[in-house]
Amino acid sequence: MNTILLDPVKDADAYKKAVSLLRAGEVVGMPTETVYGLAANALNGAAVKKIFVAKGRPQDNPLIVHIADQKQLYTLVQSVPESAKKLAAIFWPGPLTMILPKASCIPDVVSAGLDTVGIRLPSHPVARRLIWEAGIPLAAPSANTSGRPSTTTSKHVLEDLGGKIPAVLEGGPCIVGVESTVISLSGAKPRLLRPGGISLEQLEEVLGEVEVDRALCEKIGDDVRVSAPGMKYRHYAPKAPVTVVCGDPERTAAYITRHAGMDAGVICFSECAFQFAMHERRVIGAAGDVQTQARRIFDALRSFDGTSVREIWAQCPNDRGLGLAVANRLKKAAGFHVINIV
Ligand code: AMP
Ligand code: MG
Repeated sequence: MNTILLDPVKDADAYKKAVSLLRAGEVVGMPTETVYGLAANALNGAAVKKIFVAKGRPQDNPLIVHIADQKQLYTLVQSVPESAKKLAAIFWPGPLTMILPKASCIPDVVSAGLDTVGIRLPSHPVARRLIWEAGIPLAAPSANTSGRPSTTTSKHVLEDLGGKIPAVLEGGPCIVGVESTVISLSGAKPRLLRPGGISLEQLEEVLGEVEVDRALCEKIGDDVRVSAPGMKYRHYAPKAPVTVVCGDPERTAAYITRHAGMDAGVICFSECAFQFAMHERRVIGAAGDVQTQARRIFDALRSFDGTSVREIWAQCPNDRGLGLAVANRLKKAAGFHVINIV
């Protein structure tokens, strides 16, 4: 299959072409503010199955349903609690996914057999226009081969899925760079299932205390039942093994310089970059600038594939704000191989 890149800046019919593919039950790569998604009609189970095939995604990992307008939420879930109304009013459109009891129109393949569904209203104008013109909610996971780092440019999408999907809609590099925050509102207490573009602190300002799922911070054994099935899989991983080093930036840099071999790649903060002049290094931003780190982290992880790097070392931001999401992606990429410098 030849994958076409549809660029709305150059082609006045780009949306029309993407919409007719989606309406015909095909999958299309779409930009969002978080990462690129691989979209299909969320109400068509056969179309959604093609997402799982193209990505090689395990069947028990549910998808997020993307909408263009807050009103669509009410047609996709059984009821909308006050907490969800408050969050939607403040953070939508934006990088927040809410898990709620699903309505019967959601096919089982979307929710992976769960009785809940994740819904998000993205802020990326290209995504919103696509969903709006399609006139249907779009189920979309990240547009990468399952297990690999997520895609934050159309070029990344073509690297992973070129030849396997009919089209990708161009929308420039993603400005948030890490996936949406996933919060479950279907239990007694709100529960953070995945840290992302909206921080835990921002959620707690609106909801009070939010429980944090333990799978965010530690490796979960195969025998443990997790709240979000995506939590148990190896994720975001480049080919070379990753070691994450947490702690004060000067001390983590010193640790990495002592332990990294000559064939190591290093993901580091700008302040420490000079220390890794001998290594393939990827500078993800200043130690305190988690926004920039979030934007660069997946490109940095992906960029070592195809180099001679045999091991990767990464400096890790602390858990404040967006740092929790960046640290979570790094730790998962490392299979929770983490060194804490205290
Ligand atoms: P991705 O598509 O790569 O952004 O992954 C979607 C994430 O949302 C995965 O971690 C899923 O496990 C999670 N997710 C989607 N729907 C649900 C749901 N109904 N319950 C719990 N987690 C969900
Ligand atoms: Mg993903």
